[in-house]
Amino acid sequence: MTAVDYAPLDEAGFFLRAIFDVATLPAAVRDTIPGADRFRQLILIGHGGRRLWEEVKAAGLQSEHPIDDFTQATVKRWLAGQLPGVAHELIYPGDGPVGLQALGRLAGWHHDSPFRVGVNAEWGSWFAYRAVVLADSSLPLTPSMTGDSPCASCRTQPCVSACPAEALQDRDFSLQKCVAYRKQPGSRCRITCVARTSCPVRPEHRYDDAQIAHSYSRSMAMIEKLY
Ligand code: SF4
Ligand code: SF4
Repeated sequence: MTAVDYAPLDEAGFFLRAIFDVATLPAAVRDTIPGADRFRQLILIGHGGRRLWEEVKAAGLQSEHPIDDFTQATVKRWLAGQLPGVAHELIYPGDGPVGLQALGRLAGWHHDSPFRVGVNAEWGSWFAYRAVVLADSSLPLTPSMTGDSPCASCRTQPCVSACPAEALQDRDFSLQKCVAYRKQPGSRCRITCVARTSCPVRPEHRYDDAQIAHSYSRSMAMIEKLY
């Protein structure tokens, strides 16, 4: 087993890491990962809380995708420093689709929330998948994140009642209602999700407003393009 120093990832806000042996991934998950059969391990990296955004701002990136660009630079630097000479491929961020939520479930990071963003007891909904690396590494495998879904014990479900589109009222999230509401000129959800910000779990990790606006502006742009 190869010991590595995760401190450089911590310093950048990438507090969530999960190491999997590719051979032991469920076939249904492995099949969603392009090139998985060519490598021994999969390294899933996520950010949690506010630190990443602070670091991205400090880096002063003016690009169209500053978080992805910062992530790629940081993860590549970490790989070069910690796994020199080890064959690897950064497959996310990238062009191909990767089943991130399926990996998140395996890592214990993802529990379904009514508003469909993953939630867990450690970070609430304030985390995200940032990088997936395939590598011929021999890193110690990580234990799954423990803790039940916070939603299981959330009796009042404030996220459900907060959604102005009533998109969470039925058992299944209504993308149609959400999109229709977000497109309205007076929508409160053009650059945020009121349901998400109403969730009381782990408020200390809540992104600052600029980060929330950055993220939801991107999804809004996608909605304007597709619907
Ligand atoms: S408000 Fe309750 S039901 Fe909604 S995401 Fe948070 S914990 Fe889950
Ligand atoms: S973005 Fe707005 S409309 Fe969509 S689920 Fe969140 S609160 Fe509801």
